[in-house]
Amino acid sequence: MIATKTAIFLDRDGTIIADKNYLKDPSGVELLPEARDAISSLKSAQCMLFLFSNQSGVGRGIISMDDVYRCNLRMMELLGHGSNIFDAICIAPESPDDTPVYRKPSPRFIVEMVEKFDLSKENCYMVGDKESDVLAGINAQINAILIAPDGEVKTSLFEHQENKGTRVFPSLFEFSKWLIGKIQGDPKIRR
Ligand SMILES: [Mg+2]
Repeated sequence: MIATKTAIFLDRDGTIIADKNYLKDPSGVELLPEARDAISSLKSAQCMLFLFSNQSGVGRGIISMDDVYRCNLRMMELLGHGSNIFDAICIAPESPDDTPVYRKPSPRFIVEMVEKFDLSKENCYMVGDKESDVLAGINAQINAILIAPDGEVKTSLFEHQENKGTRVFPSLFEFSKWLIGKIQGDPKIRR
């Protein structure tokens, strides 16, 4: 029997790279500490990786989709796994005033990928630094992971019993260590 793939849906700003409002210039792309190692270890563990980023600056007319693509390319260059590192990329360009289509907390992209790649929801993780990331994961009924570098959790979502699958980590790297331990069935890792 072939084990189902583990799939990670990754937010970009504040999760992989430093969150600079409406990042336009690729030279401003800055990987967060150990993000490169985190991505490398998730790739080594044969996880599928998806990039899922809200870019309301496009909808607001502050940056263009082309700016986003160029920044993504720079990020992928810095990550060092080529430009096919992600199995699929979703850039949600809507501003908060637009009717949401893919904009998180909409689960639409996740739901589409689960269906397209026949993924098992219990092996899917939405990872991001905002409440909207966590909510997108919850709305898609997959695991939701909040990255909170300062340890401060700015959401009450975790208090609800029905959101018990949600977890908080200080960085993508710490999440990757935990997940790989879980995948490898390390008894020292709490599940
Ligand atoms: Mg973010």
